[in-house]
Amino acid sequence: MKRIAVLASGGDAPGMNACIRAVVRSALHHGLSASGVLHGYRGLIEGEFREFSTGDVSNIIQRGGSILFSARSEAFQTVEGRAEAARNLRDRSIDGLIVIGGNGSFRGADAIAREQGIAVVGVPATIDNDVWGTDYTIGYDTAVNTALDSVDRIKDTAASHERVFIVEVMGRSAGFIALEVGVGSGAEAILLPETPTDVSALAALITERILNGRRSSIIICAEGDENGGARAVASELKTVHGIDSQVTVLGHVQRGGSPTTSDRVLASKLGWAAVDALCSGAAPCMVGEVSRRIVRHPLADSWTFVKEIDTELVKLAPLI
Ligand code: ATP
Repeated sequence: MKRIAVLASGGDAPGMNACIRAVVRSALHHGLSASGVLHGYRGLIEGEFREFSTGDVSNIIQRGGSILFSARSEAFQTVEGRAEAARNLRDRSIDGLIVIGGNGSFRGADAIAREQGIAVVGVPATIDNDVWGTDYTIGYDTAVNTALDSVDRIKDTAASHERVFIVEVMGRSAGFIALEVGVGSGAEAILLPETPTDVSALAALITERILNGRRSSIIICAEGDENGGARAVASELKTVHGIDSQVTVLGHVQRGGSPTTSDRVLASKLGWAAVDALCSGAAPCMVGEVSRRIVRHPLADSWTFVKEIDTELVKLAPLI
């Protein structure tokens, strides 16, 4: 192993830069040269490589987003696209690739490893935390804290105006953010994609609170809740039950911002672990952290197995 490349793929997540920094520094420490690939798999196909030195990754550990940009690529979902990407790596004598991203990115990584024999290591980074094989993904802790901060502010308004607020947080198919933000903010109800949501029960809860003189309520709803998200729930509350509510969709604000300490540390550990995996011939694989220990799994495990939400937290969460 002499030359490696690193890219960020899928949705951006706070801590991606800390991970890029760790990869480059670890590579140089091991006597390897390191290149960055701009625009994820798209840049891999189009040959957007930049050689890195230590100076190039200084002062980025605290920055959100990705200095390599992140992107999605349809071409990489084709055999021809992946063959072109592999050619670009070989032309530059790059013998190891580190992919920072989520499940979709790992599917692509697995495909190029199988078809083209490229040594790839996946580093889980997505605010959704929906990657099996690691307790946390890079970016999740920051996203939860950003969302929680917003909900705390909304609570002040909800209390002052005695209103019901439904706050939608990110999570198309996973309720990790909604569950922790709901418990952390002391929400009256939490709506998750993993559990059936009963809007009539929610209406009964709100009505009972109003009868008891508690006119403000905070409901946390994952965007992937099977009822169709916060707007759909608010609409049903109004049309079926005659209950008025305000909707706030937090959206992309949850993606940005400076990573928390936990995300910076996790990104640093996993960046180092990815280079270590390449150097010790463990690729293709993904790296993760489980119970504070660095682990390696086959890439396919990350989407074959479904990561479950915290069952202990579910016991005390007001799920509706
Ligand atoms: P996030 O969870 O933040 O959305 P992700 O890595 O799951 O991150 P995706 O958009 O699903 O994000 O995937 C990123 C890229 O990975 C896609 O644009 C595509 O290039 C590649 N990819 C996804 N699925 C496949 C697949 N089945 N085969 C090959 N490549 C894929």
